[in-house]
Amino acid sequence: MIQPIVAGVYRVPGVVANCYVLTGTDGVDVIDAGLPYSHRQILAFLRRLGREPGAVRQILITHADRDHVGGAAALRAATGARVVAGPLEGAAMSEARETRRIGLPGPMRGAFEAASTLLFARVTPVAPDTAVNDGDELIGVARLRVLHTPGHTPGHMSYFAPDLGVLFAGDSLRSFGGRLRASFGANTDNEVQAQESAWRQLTLNPEVILAGHGTPVWTK
Ligand SMILES: [Zn+2]
Repeated sequence: MIQPIVAGVYRVPGVVANCYVLTGTDGVDVIDAGLPYSHRQILAFLRRLGREPGAVRQILITHADRDHVGGAAALRAATGARVVAGPLEGAAMSEARETRRIGLPGPMRGAFEAASTLLFARVTPVAPDTAVNDGDELIGVARLRVLHTPGHTPGHMSYFAPDLGVLFAGDSLRSFGGRLRASFGANTDNEVQAQESAWRQLTLNPEVILAGHGTPVWTK
């Protein structure tokens, strides 16, 4: 018996960054798709849950970083699901690039960018089928409210399931051993925006916050 985080919501083991599946009678939604080749772990996990690839309806992407979109193209090909993302991140995904530059000091930047280009060479471009904006409501396995949560990246989107009390926060929030922090540091596009996005999400009173890295954070 595989233990859900809350009824119907699971974290797919072995995928970086965190990939979550939301299962229901109507099918499966997947939130973020991990590094390249993660579709294999995602499909294997769904099989353990007794779900066929064709059960996946939507692949919801929070932002265009390679550890969130790497498996998206192959997962779409295997499942026939639609890929959903915000317009800014979606445009970057279509070209297999990220939406912000990592702010490293001069001497490190060249080496980092070279490594980054190499890594990104393995990401298959994926143009979203559906563009979503702040305030949109998606009817999939559960009702999901789309939140534009910029800061980590300029077009970052989070997905909130009000009926489940679950917030899929991507990298807008980080979980460190059960404590939350807004995105910060060198890979954050704008820390002020990141703080604002964090507060805005907390005012929704989610019961559990599922971030792109780290363990679930329970608020009650
Ligand atoms: Zn990220």
